[in-house]
Amino acid sequence: RIITWNNTLLRNADNAITGSMSIGEDITERFAIDRMKSEFIDIVAHELRTPLTSIHGGLTLITKGRVHSDSEQGQQLLQVAAKSSQQLVELVNNILDLECLESGKSPPQKQSLNTRDLTSQATHSVQLIADQASVTLEVSDPGFEIIADAHHLKQVLTHLLDNAIKFSPTDSTIWLTVDQTLPTELGKPVILFKVCDQGPGIPPKQCTTIFDRFMQVDSSDTRQKGGTGLGLAICRKLIEQHGGKIWVESTLGVGSCFYFTLPVS
Ligand code: ADP
Repeated sequence: RIITWNNTLLRNADNAITGSMSIGEDITERFAIDRMKSEFIDIVAHELRTPLTSIHGGLTLITKGRVHSDSEQGQQLLQVAAKSSQQLVELVNNILDLECLESGKSPPQKQSLNTRDLTSQATHSVQLIADQASVTLEVSDPGFEIIADAHHLKQVLTHLLDNAIKFSPTDSTIWLTVDQTLPTELGKPVILFKVCDQGPGIPPKQCTTIFDRFMQVDSSDTRQKGGTGLGLAICRKLIEQHGGKIWVESTLGVGSCFYFTLPVS
């Protein structure tokens, strides 16, 4: 806990010191609220202002009649405003998801399931964007029985596949594999999920930090590829809640492999 101390000397009528009084105040909650406030201001400053400015600027030009909405420029401004508002919705949803997970308001609803159902649902939901990007998805999953939250795990797999597609060059392949590791002297067996791509790779220094909030390898990623920089922070939280681990191994210019483990039930 965080305590502030206030020490005061006590004096008698002749101004001689007779003692001291110390008052401690527990400011743990206030400190946490202050930290949340300053984090929120950082988010507003960096992440919300940019899309809001382009929505406001574009719509003002149109509503004041300076640009006609039917003109080519008007249409471009409207498209930018629509894309920016979609980005804001995604950002606010991600912030709320993460907050919900961190405060323990969204514990996993575990049930018995087969990994093959998860991998086929996740690949099915990204198949269209993979086709649009001319990227092939290859899945190898013998089908393991696990006890986990199907919705949370599908969210993690879909996000890793989404990222892999986003960063893959055209005509490349993404491999999604599921395996069970053998028990070793050091550890119990785990179910290991792996998503590998042939994208640009991630510099070694950033392989850990990209799992932190708002961390992107290149600050222009949001503009060029979309995304909020919160996806991997959410994935890490979801996997940790299942007692698993998530990490990336990557070689620049060759590709990246994202791994996560789940305990064998
Ligand atoms: P976003 O929601 O912006 O995609 P993430 O938290 O999912 O945010 O990812 C953070 C950053 O990690 C991305 O902006 C990108 O720089 C890097 N990254 C994630 N996946 C890959 C990948 N498969 N290949 C290369 N870089 C990646």
